[in-house]
Amino acid sequence: MRKNDDKSTKWVLVFLALVLVTILAAALLSSVRSKEEMLSLRAEIDQQRVTILDYEDLLAEKEEQLAVHKELLGIFQRQSSNAAYDFSQIRQMVSQATQTVEDLKKLEESDGELLAKYSKVYFLNEHYYPENLTYLPNDLLISERNQQIKKEVLPFLTDMLAAMRSDGLSPRIVSAFRSFDYQGELKNSNVVTYGTSVASQFVADQGYSEHQLGTTVDIANPDTGAEMLGFDITEEYQWLLDNAYKYGFILSYPEDNSYYAFEPWHWRFVGIALATELNSKGKYFYDMLQRDINTYRINMFDTTQ
Ligand SMILES: [Zn+2]
Repeated sequence: MRKNDDKSTKWVLVFLALVLVTILAAALLSSVRSKEEMLSLRAEIDQQRVTILDYEDLLAEKEEQLAVHKELLGIFQRQSSNAAYDFSQIRQMVSQATQTVEDLKKLEESDGELLAKYSKVYFLNEHYYPENLTYLPNDLLISERNQQIKKEVLPFLTDMLAAMRSDGLSPRIVSAFRSFDYQGELKNSNVVTYGTSVASQFVADQGYSEHQLGTTVDIANPDTGAEMLGFDITEEYQWLLDNAYKYGFILSYPEDNSYYAFEPWHWRFVGIALATELNSKGKYFYDMLQRDINTYRINMFDTTQ
């Protein structure tokens, strides 16, 4: 009898031990699982923290933009109440004012004259003097030494002339930057040579402002010489018509334009993006709205489109 009791006690003890082991194992397992869970939760929290910081940055940026837009709106509102201002025009102006603060700043720092349209009524201030003028290498010139151009434009020009040379052509720069005073002298000498009406038609009124910018060149070849007569029937001219846009240059006064006399030699740098746009649309620079042109100013010296 006692032996039996002993046996059953033993089984109870074994059973209890088994239960205890199971409970301990379960507890151990759950603690491992919760540790894993905790780690993954912590990682998730860290991720959220980064996301929040990103949002804060974004928000600060948007707030800055908003402040600029509010200021612009204020200006437009004042203008609209001051005068009979076309409402749709205001709306258009507001919708255009969506550049980022960085773009606005960049725009503020860029030279507004570089893409301006010049005409008989709007031309460059006589005191305007371009920044960063540099000398053109003499082997690019037809005769006159000490020709200057804006430093930022030089690589585009030398690339273009190199491409022309490798196509077997002989382009030569006749004239690049001209100061207001120099332009005045040039006009006078042409008045003496050709008479007032002819001289004012092709020297002073149209090309002068563009040469004063330091972004514009007159191109000829050894056959036409510095007089550039007959340049429109040269292979150099045809090449420029086909390819100059790839280097950011446009023909300011093309044949049959409705404003100015034809100047096949006169090429102005406006940047690859704008020149390419004009080329693909078959458009003429002086037909484009100034405010549309201005959107190209920020990236004017970019080497890609
Ligand atoms: Zn010119």
